[in-house]
Amino acid sequence: RGEVHTITAWSDAEGAARAADLFRATFEAEPDGVWAAPGRVNLIGEHVDYNGGLCLPLALPHATFAAVRRRDDDVVRLVSSLDPEAVWEDPVSSIAPGAVSSWAAYAAGPAWALREAGCAVGGFEAAIDSCVPLGAGLSSSAAIECAVALALDELFGCGYAARGDAGRAALASICVKAENEVAGAPTGGMDQATSLRGASGHALLLDCRDSTTRLLPFDLAAAGLELLVIDTRAAHALGDGQYGRRRAACEAAAARLGVQTLREVTDLDAALTALADDWERRCVRHVVTEIERVKAVARLLDADRPDAIGALLDASHDSLRDDYAVSCPELDAAVDAARAAGALGARMTGGGFGGSAIALIRAGDEAAVARGVQAAFDARGWTRPAFLSAVPGPGARRVR
Ligand code: ADP
Ligand code: MG
Repeated sequence: RGEVHTITAWSDAEGAARAADLFRATFEAEPDGVWAAPGRVNLIGEHVDYNGGLCLPLALPHATFAAVRRRDDDVVRLVSSLDPEAVWEDPVSSIAPGAVSSWAAYAAGPAWALREAGCAVGGFEAAIDSCVPLGAGLSSSAAIECAVALALDELFGCGYAARGDAGRAALASICVKAENEVAGAPTGGMDQATSLRGASGHALLLDCRDSTTRLLPFDLAAAGLELLVIDTRAAHALGDGQYGRRRAACEAAAARLGVQTLREVTDLDAALTALADDWERRCVRHVVTEIERVKAVARLLDADRPDAIGALLDASHDSLRDDYAVSCPELDAAVDAARAAGALGARMTGGGFGGSAIALIRAGDEAAVARGVQAAFDARGWTRPAFLSAVPGPGARRVR
């Protein structure tokens, strides 16, 4: 009864074998190779991307695996372990915005976006398997795109990954375009940048103003720490309108303050005095203080003090809950219970209204904290959460 549900990451060998098995069973041939791309979790810097801010995500050890074979014709065939009987098939030239309605948009989208960017991608087959939980705010969508994009880049000689991090940055933009236009999901660049540019033992400081990045040391094991991800399995249908309302408030406040984005606000008190609308004041206070918290966490990671970031994680959650109003009862309960069970700091992560929370804990406390959170959910009669250990893993790569 007290058992907690932990989602363990697959090794590269296990993921490669699973994707290759699905490929063989579906397409009765050997794949040319298998590519993996991780999900991600944001350590801090929430709702700041559209304000030109800074965020600090890391690549999860949990990845999506794509077994892929290049074809000589223009036929694209796609299958996912989620529904192995349903093979999606169409000519590559028919992949376009509005033309793919199912999950296959996430796997087909990169082919379209690479072709738009001038690379002659032709037909291919891809079989997808994943240990990234879907729709938990851990970016299973970008993980599919990035695994397939890296495979096509290599199989069709587009040459992006061969150019190192600059090439990966360009590939990330291509995957963002695929998600925005083919899958029709509005998303900033954090997910794809982390999946393609993340690194083991590091968090990725991403400047949303110019897409520049810097890897910061985040070696949890060396510090005797763990980062526990709590998938609340809650999804409140408020999502889209609520996002638009906040984005609009930020833009209106920036216009009133005479700045391009809220990133440029240097004197928070003066800005708050200049704004008459209480809702805009709350939005500005969240965004400006959150960007400062990201900078403070970055300084601590640079100084190899990940143990000292707990209070900043707590403050981030409180700001998102009280000022920005994007938390929900499940996220608040997860954070409160994690803190009560000894977490050094905890916060919701991702856009809010459901999805996941993170807790920075001492190594060895994982079972106790997870049980504490689960008990809080049980007491309210909610669906039990799932737990993942978020040791920063490698960015997208070929695994076979
Ligand atoms: P998140 O990226 O946070 O997991 P999204 O809503 O952006 O949530 O993306 C989830 C969608 O991505 C799923 O509904 C599905 O369409 C697609 N997806 C992700 N992983 C897979 C997979 N392994 N197989 C098929 N579709 C997947
Ligand atoms: Mg997504």
